[in-house]
Amino acid sequence: MIAPGSWLGLLGGGQLGRMFTMAAQSMGYRVLVLDPGDHSPAGSVADEHLRADYLDREALRKMATRCAAVTTEFENVPAESLAFLAQHATVSPAAAAVAVAQDRIREKTFLVDSGLDVAPFSVIRSEADLQDALLAPLLPGILKIARLGYDGKGQVRVATPQDVRSAFASLGGRPCVLEKFLALEREVSVVVARAFDDQLVTYPLSENHHAGGILDISIVPARVSPQLADAARTGAMKVAERLDYRGVLCVEYFVLRDGQLLVNEIAPRPHNSGHYSIDACVTSQFEQQARVLCGLPLGDPSMHCPAVMVNLLGELWAAGEPRWEHVLRHPRAKLHLYGKTEARAGRKMGHFTVLAEDAAAALETATDVKAMLLADAQSLRAAGAA
Ligand code: ATP
Ligand code: MG
Repeated sequence: MIAPGSWLGLLGGGQLGRMFTMAAQSMGYRVLVLDPGDHSPAGSVADEHLRADYLDREALRKMATRCAAVTTEFENVPAESLAFLAQHATVSPAAAAVAVAQDRIREKTFLVDSGLDVAPFSVIRSEADLQDALLAPLLPGILKIARLGYDGKGQVRVATPQDVRSAFASLGGRPCVLEKFLALEREVSVVVARAFDDQLVTYPLSENHHAGGILDISIVPARVSPQLADAARTGAMKVAERLDYRGVLCVEYFVLRDGQLLVNEIAPRPHNSGHYSIDACVTSQFEQQARVLCGLPLGDPSMHCPAVMVNLLGELWAAGEPRWEHVLRHPRAKLHLYGKTEARAGRKMGHFTVLAEDAAAALETATDVKAMLLADAQSLRAAGAA
């Protein structure tokens, strides 16, 4: 067990890292963040921020020497850096598991081999994979770049074989998967934590609504049948076990109109759809990440009450700082801001979570609050333009 007071290392300085850092610090740990940026959400709350590239050997060595254990907040961290750190410190998740989740081709292959259902897809690596007869059954579809995509980036909707060919070229001819576009009834996700002693817990299912390819709202517990919730949790546990995963991961699912459950993707880290756990659960996904990393017993993931989480994107700042009183006047709404200085459209700047006796009531309040924030931003922008 790594005792409180010890140093923990974190690769990546974004909001997931910030919330991890705060959770670890509240248990008495000190956190060293490696992130190349000057101002990063995690770097600004960390006990120390190393400003260096993720491949910088000197920085990695410093982290390995100082820290008893190291974790990551994003899947695109170079697997070789994790492997290097693992020679000197406990690293979770392991490079091998991250390598699967950071490449859609390996990820889908792993899921199929594990007996889990995924959307019909085909791998596109070169011109030879672009013949009409191969593409037609998957159209209309979405061409997704195999590596480094997030928040819907690196994805192109395609309707014809010609669209696929131009999209493949526009993505730089890099390896892709072409996925059939499905009529979704709903999207849900499950956060799982698995410890070094094989202890495993799953969080309540989150129901996720996206806007423009980015998570907008999560409703928890998801409005699905107990059977479907069980199947989703079982699938997520299977993923964690088969990856021999140690840490927190999230499995995102598509639910089709006929009730079929397909895995969309795996995130080898705490997930945006699990942010509700900070305010609504006995143990947040970030505290759980710290517990696994330090070899502590896992905490109880159960909820105090239903919750709805709403993401706050950069466009809300179009006319200046939003009027937070819209959120704060609700005694059961909790505001989280990530300390980002620049508010670009589509950038995740913060979120708020509304707690209530039932999900419907939480959703009503959350929707009202969001509508007021948006209306303000629009009217202020209009006034500014006039
Ligand atoms: P994130 O980082 O937010 O998870 P991402 O870039 O990894 O996003 P995906 O999860 O693959 O992208 O897709 C983003 C969203 O686009 C999905 O949550 C879903 O709403 C929609 N989507 C993706 N693939 C399909 C599909 N095959 N059929 C229908 N909708 C899809
Ligand atoms: Mg996704």
